[in-house]
Amino acid sequence: MERVDCVVVGAGVVGLAVARALALAGREVIILEAADGIGTETSSRNSEVIHAGIYYPAGSFMARFCVAGRRALYAYCAEKRVPHANCGKLIVATNAEEDAMLAGIKRRAEVNGVEGMRVLSAAEAIALEPNLSCTSALLSPVTGIIDSHAFMLALQGDAENAGAVPVFLSPVSGGRAVQGGAEIDVGGNDPMTLRCRLLVNATGLHAPSFASRIIGMPPDRIPGAYYAKGNYFTLSGRSPFTRLIYPVPVPGGLGVHLTIDLGGQARFGPDVQWIDTIDYSVDAARADSFYAAVRKYWPALKDGALQPGYSGIRPKIVPRGAPAQDFVVQGPQTHGLPGLINLFGIESPGLTAALALADHVVEVAATG
Ligand SMILES: Cc1cc2nc3c(=O)[nH]c(=O)nc-3n(C[C@H](O)[C@H](O)[C@H](O)COP(=O)(O)OP(=O)(O)OC[C@H]3O[C@@H](n4cnc5c(N)ncnc54)[C@H](O)[C@@H]3O)c2cc1C
Repeated sequence: MERVDCVVVGAGVVGLAVARALALAGREVIILEAADGIGTETSSRNSEVIHAGIYYPAGSFMARFCVAGRRALYAYCAEKRVPHANCGKLIVATNAEEDAMLAGIKRRAEVNGVEGMRVLSAAEAIALEPNLSCTSALLSPVTGIIDSHAFMLALQGDAENAGAVPVFLSPVSGGRAVQGGAEIDVGGNDPMTLRCRLLVNATGLHAPSFASRIIGMPPDRIPGAYYAKGNYFTLSGRSPFTRLIYPVPVPGGLGVHLTIDLGGQARFGPDVQWIDTIDYSVDAARADSFYAAVRKYWPALKDGALQPGYSGIRPKIVPRGAPAQDFVVQGPQTHGLPGLINLFGIESPGLTAALALADHVVEVAATG
């Protein structure tokens, strides 16, 4: 039987960042990925926003890893020439009730260590973004956008330079805890069984079902898998805004916001649509609610201007209506199996947080 020090299952942005960090820490790493390339699931179906770290509860993994991950990400992008832009973001209030919410959002951001947050009057916000309609706004100057595929390629390159080996078309069907680590069954063209000292479950949406296929994993430590789809609609022509424009947050997501890509194209979304099975189709009829939401802050949006774009699915571990859940990095101290780390519920801001999350996984791996 083949033996290897570490196996990371999943080559999304998180698995790649973890593999890179483990390899840079001197460990031998194989990355097993079911698809034929990197980042084919949630990591290529998101807003590509470098989040500041504004909304998350103080001290949570999301808050800590978003802020630390964002700082590390800007430095990494500069060093590796990953295309990105520190364009900034406005959270816009459109009535008195929302005006009052901005101060609370700013306070929370500052507790989390977000730099430079500033409340703007309507006139100040409109001076920055002439097409905006609002009653006040909160400026986050450290928010940005990134080419997520270029980021993943850079992570893969670093990991490989440090000795990690990605293997594609290699779905891991299951495994079991054994003395000194885990044994896993790999399908695909060359089925095999591998023994490793460390197994990292970075399978995104599939993480709970993957964990349930590890014999010895206590079922009561495996969260449920719930899917909250986020649909995007694209706007033809150039973006009417140069910064990202967000409404005040709604339960389950950040509201129908405008993001821009590095080519200056605008898209709106993601909304929140709870679904039972993985399905990325975008229902054109959902545009109706987008028009209403967007016109609150951009009344000039013309009928027919929005086209169905793409969707991504948030890997939720609690059902609709339950309080939001933090990232879960589950090591032996929680589940009792030495050499297994499960990553559950790595939804937004997982792209921004990836570098910091990966450092944390290396620490958990080192301390058991
Ligand atoms: C709608 C939406 C918008 C978002 N916007 C942002 C944003 O703007 N900024 C931000 O910071 N974050 C954002 N996020 C969050 C971010 O996209 C995710 O946190 C991140 O991409 C998760 O990466 P991952 O590697 O954990 O999962 P994934 O990218 O899903 O990767 C998991 C990988 O595991 C593989 N896999 C699964 N099962 C197996 C198996 N059995 N064997 C082998 N391989 C397997 C899959 O093929 C896949 O490649 C958003 C998320 C969503 C859903």
